[in-house]
Amino acid sequence: MKDKNLTDFSSLGLSSTLLGGLKRAGFDTPTKIQEQAIPKLLEGRDVMGIAQTGSGKTAAFGLPILAGIEELTGRARPLTTRALVLAPTRELAVQIDENLRQWGGQKLTTVLVLGGMSRHAQVQKLARGVDIVVATPGRLKDLVDDGKLRLNETRWLVLDEADRMLDMGFIAPVKAIARLIGPRRQTMLFSATMAPEVAELARGLLNDPVRVEAAPQGSTVVKIDQRVILAGSKAKRGVLNDLLADPAEGMERVIVFARTKHGADRVAKNLAIDGHEAAAIHGNKSQNARQAALKGFSGGKVRILVATDIAARGIDVQGITHVVNYDLPDDAENYVHRIGRTGRNGATGIAITLCDGTERPKLREVEKLIRRTLPLSGDATLLAEATAAPPARVPGPNGRPGPRSARNPKAASGGRAGAAGDKPTARPQGAKKPRWGKSRRDAARSSRVAARV
Ligand code: AMP
Repeated sequence: MKDKNLTDFSSLGLSSTLLGGLKRAGFDTPTKIQEQAIPKLLEGRDVMGIAQTGSGKTAAFGLPILAGIEELTGRARPLTTRALVLAPTRELAVQIDENLRQWGGQKLTTVLVLGGMSRHAQVQKLARGVDIVVATPGRLKDLVDDGKLRLNETRWLVLDEADRMLDMGFIAPVKAIARLIGPRRQTMLFSATMAPEVAELARGLLNDPVRVEAAPQGSTVVKIDQRVILAGSKAKRGVLNDLLADPAEGMERVIVFARTKHGADRVAKNLAIDGHEAAAIHGNKSQNARQAALKGFSGGKVRILVATDIAARGIDVQGITHVVNYDLPDDAENYVHRIGRTGRNGATGIAITLCDGTERPKLREVEKLIRRTLPLSGDATLLAEATAAPPARVPGPNGRPGPRSARNPKAASGGRAGAAGDKPTARPQGAKKPRWGKSRRDAARSSRVAARV
């Protein structure tokens, strides 16, 4: 996270109060996205940020808003908020709120507006007026429609993880909320990818935005060691147990991703039967259960967190040594977000994907997206089929499929890929994103996925 060539926070034009808050948080050097975005936001420009969780984007949008609020006199009027931050998941909203309160100091007032939590408590806090509301779109729209919050005095609007919000079917409430705030606002939109739908949303909401980018789209974090173990769906339980029991693997803190809520529950149950401490987190769990699972995991009480893709972004737990994809994700881009839970803040991490015969097409989509062939090991029969099958075609620099190439033979024998295959390559500038599910033929598919996780 730290880079000696970067400036320090004091040169970005932040107040001494905020600098004190950052010092307490242990931040002394801005990340790339912070260095790019903060001065532009302080000038009043809109910002379109291509950045993932882990890049420091929360401070990139949060600090300029806090600086702006510091300059305002008096308190927010009853039933209004000065700033609104929209996030796709409750976990992410809770983290953003915690960060803002830590940096902003005691005078700052914030309210979390989330589904699954007491509406009454939120309504009461909003009635007094507040500096910042951090919300998920559904509950916020509900309270606004009920006249419990007015957005006419809101000066800052943040859409965090906009791509994820669109995936979750939040486009209509997001647009409606933005309309209520009106054009005299400063807007910041952050997204891990610049999918066409995100670009369209940005065109509608942002006014002459500055574009800032922390990492190239679709790139995977360099320090994550990725590999695939081929295993039939029934064999996956045994493979995971072997990995967890192997001291050489060093699985200290592990997130296991399952494709569905039901699958996540089943994996967590089997892990418990097999003698492991595991907690599960997914969309069917109550907010309290989700927070408790996260707390147990981040506090080190529980070694394994089993999650659906709802947890693929936004979870900021330090020291995750391994990400295990028990199932491949439906959407290849979620692979990048899942494995991004490890290898954070410059740490190394390991991502292991368990893949059965039916998941091979999904694996090929992942390989196309990250533009590398992942080393394979595992079930000898599946391995023989895999090496006999046509290899994944990685897109060439123009975004079209590149030449066919044989799989890395070392990788196929279970070893790590050699130097050439080991470096994840970012999609070259201007190259088109591979087209597949992301064209999102219909919004219906997104909502079906949302219902499963
Ligand atoms: P974010 O992308 O906002 O979720 O931030 C990812 C992690 O990086 C969080 O744990 C932050 O506390 C941490 N972080 C953000 N900015 C800095 C910084 N300038 N220096 C050190 N850590 C940071």
